[in-house]
Amino acid sequence: SSIPDSLDAFWMPFTANRQFKSQPRLMASAKGMYYTTVDDRQVLDGTAGLWCVNAGHCREKIIAAIQTQAATLDFAPTFQMGHPAPFALADRLAKMLPGDLNHVFFANSGSEAVDSALKIALAYHRVRGEGSRTRLIGRERGYHGVGFGGISVGGIAPNRKSFGSLLPGVDHLPHTHNLERNAFTRGQPQWGAHLADELERLVTLHDASTIAAVIVEPVAGSTGVLVPPQGYLERLRSICDRHGILLIFDEVITGFGRLGKGFATDYFGVIPDLMTVAKGITNAAVPMGAVFVRDGIYDAFMHGAENAIELSHGYTYSGHPLACAAAQATLDIYEEEGLFDRANSLSSYWEDAVHSLEGLPHVIDIRNLGLVAGIELESIPNQVGSRAYDCLVRCFENGLLVRTAGDIIALSPPLIIEKQHIDQIVEMLGLVLKDLA
Ligand code: PMP
Repeated sequence: SSIPDSLDAFWMPFTANRQFKSQPRLMASAKGMYYTTVDDRQVLDGTAGLWCVNAGHCREKIIAAIQTQAATLDFAPTFQMGHPAPFALADRLAKMLPGDLNHVFFANSGSEAVDSALKIALAYHRVRGEGSRTRLIGRERGYHGVGFGGISVGGIAPNRKSFGSLLPGVDHLPHTHNLERNAFTRGQPQWGAHLADELERLVTLHDASTIAAVIVEPVAGSTGVLVPPQGYLERLRSICDRHGILLIFDEVITGFGRLGKGFATDYFGVIPDLMTVAKGITNAAVPMGAVFVRDGIYDAFMHGAENAIELSHGYTYSGHPLACAAAQATLDIYEEEGLFDRANSLSSYWEDAVHSLEGLPHVIDIRNLGLVAGIELESIPNQVGSRAYDCLVRCFENGLLVRTAGDIIALSPPLIIEKQHIDQIVEMLGLVLKDLA
């Protein structure tokens, strides 16, 4: 179908970019590492779509799986009945996870997965007779989607401010960016476990018996690739353990190989009580999200619940057949092509490549881990974000897709990336940065 001449009535935040008229950036198709725009230009995907197309675009195996499933069983209600696909997928996913993260609740996006995780955490305490545990703790600069749960625990004030009352009793741990922004540190920044001690202060302030859960992105993605200092996540884990507080990892970005391991929980060796994923679970071919939970939480949450009516939680499309088919094919590709190991083995090449941008104009920090990187530019006074945005526009004109977070340029390419693509990304970025006002 054709694009209408006037788009004035159709601005859709997060659906079609607002600068469309002045700077057309619409994608027509995609394959492997590249997008093709509506004006037929090739654009190298430096961001795996939006941190999600980990196996590269339009993979035959995934397409075939979706087509076969669509022709066989398009949909079956999972309310009071069901179909086999979610069970098979849950079993496969649980086997990929450490510890007793053995149970899966499906959703359709990261935001829904986060809302589900928060609800499960609150219900867990209530079922165990600890209904006073209602406080939730997030982290400044944490991003957990745009549901009411996600914006409440999320640490981005502008995302909250227009939407009235949110979840009550939410606190935000300070971000650790001063340490994370550590002047071109490679890999994980220095020791910084003490930065988690703010949680101890909140426990004393509120009394542990009122706190339900702490939710963090192991590596904050959307606010600019903030790598936690060493010891930080371990310290959060031990404080939560001591006080009966649940620890939730939001692995919507870090899951499925981004850090060169299956999940951030594997990378950091810290096992959360609940874990949210989305994006890479289906290689973004069909929307899907999920929450993984540990045995004890599942048992308590499901206690006495004979069926979904008592639990009153679940979405029409939870475990949708097409999403399950896409996820199975995606996991096949991850396995067959060893993409998580591939990300790991490319990570030092990636690190050297992105750090070769040190010293270019305006570059004040570079952070990386696995196949993700954040390149922080000095902001123009009173115009935060404009310099990185300028960089994005010029990169796009030169055939490279990057993402910005304020004045941080975020890179998270598909894990199928070749060294030559890494060289291209860095070369194009270098050229743009050299010229940037
Ligand atoms: N959590 C994290 C860590 C995310 O990065 C995102 C999306 N960028 C979400 C949740 C929300 O996911 P979705 O956009 O699929 O709702």
